[in-house]
Amino acid sequence: MTKYLQKCENCNKYGLLNPESKCRYCGGKLINPRPPKYSPIDKYGKYRMEYFKEDFEKKFK
Ligand SMILES: [Zn+2]
Repeated sequence: MTKYLQKCENCNKYGLLNPESKCRYCGGKLINPRPPKYSPIDKYGKYRMEYFKEDFEKKFK
């Protein structure tokens, strides 16, 4: 199911994979939101680290 979901690189909305790979909202290019060359776990972990670092700095500066 989720393998048919693509993300628009222009407006960041999700759309279903179609032959033209075009966003139905803005006509932008649809891309795979989770490219196989990246590990989703590593990506999420990195994002979370940065999020907490930012949050920490806001609280303690
Ligand atoms: Zn779009």
